[in-house]
Amino acid sequence: MTGTAHTTDTPRRPLDVLVVGSANADLVTVVERHPAPGETVLGSDLTVHPGGKGANQAVAAARLGARAGLLARVGDDAHGRLLAASLADAGVDTGPVLTGGAPTGVALIAVDGRGDNTIVVSPGANGRLTPADVVDARAVLASAAVVSLQLEIPSASVAAAVRTAVAAGTRVVLNPSPPAPLPPDVLAACDPLVVNEHEARALLRSPTGGAPATGSADAADPAEPADAAGRAEALRRRGPRSVVVTLGAAGALVCGPQGTEHVPAPAVEAVDATGAGDAFTGALAWRLALGEDLASAVRFAVRVGAASVTRPGAQTSYPAADALP
Ligand code: ADP
Repeated sequence: MTGTAHTTDTPRRPLDVLVVGSANADLVTVVERHPAPGETVLGSDLTVHPGGKGANQAVAAARLGARAGLLARVGDDAHGRLLAASLADAGVDTGPVLTGGAPTGVALIAVDGRGDNTIVVSPGANGRLTPADVVDARAVLASAAVVSLQLEIPSASVAAAVRTAVAAGTRVVLNPSPPAPLPPDVLAACDPLVVNEHEARALLRSPTGGAPATGSADAADPAEPADAAGRAEALRRRGPRSVVVTLGAAGALVCGPQGTEHVPAPAVEAVDATGAGDAFTGALAWRLALGEDLASAVRFAVRVGAASVTRPGAQTSYPAADALP
């Protein structure tokens, strides 16, 4: 499989990547230990970071040079304005961002001295991005070469976005995180479905392609393929046109009609892996929008994922194209 950018005869669309997904404010405090129920502990000064998988992917793509937009919903509040400013600063087209209906989504994150987190997510406005909002934005969906989705907005809105994209001839990239059931036509439209190893296992446990009903997603299952390539192929048999499994420091697997290929990641000094998968997927969506074949796009995306783990934070760690290993 070789790289072939800009090989299609169709004219380039106005947007490379439209991300349809979440935008959150991450509120982080460091505690000595986590409180027991009913207990109060003191934390360090609060830091507020822009986050949410949708916003992360859009920022990752824009910082690399993509013409990227975000269809999301934030609250009419200070967190919403902070998110809009950081998206605009990265060069993301925030024209499709909708405002109001609920407070901006928030993740309340307590980090203890050992680096263990507890996280409470209040989806807020993310949960109010409706299928009607998505259908209203069909012209934007049709103006993008690739639409990239995750599952931090209502599943009916994800399905509406995928169906609208398919009708407009827009390629669909989907990261089912957090893992949840996907309708067969939505799964079949994914090209690729992008999962980390935890998400791959969770999807394989579900007869519908979604999350397991019970038990840990990482517990051993005798019916499950023993290796990551086998899991990628088993996932692809569920319907997606192609599957990409990210493997952390080991890179990624690309599974398409021509078979399965392992793409190693460059060796880097890892500092903080937060948001690495979002950096990977934003980069992947952009290279596919440029017309690259899937294996070439994954070779680029593993470099972006690797660069993102060398710096702390999620969006703050995302590299420009000239800063890749
Ligand atoms: P997620 O963030 O969803 O858990 P992964 O941990 O699989 O996803 O990481 C996504 C991508 O980030 C990998 O495919 C790889 O390119 C890069 N990456 C993550 N951790 C490392 C690491 N320690 N060294 C190099 N690259 C890494």
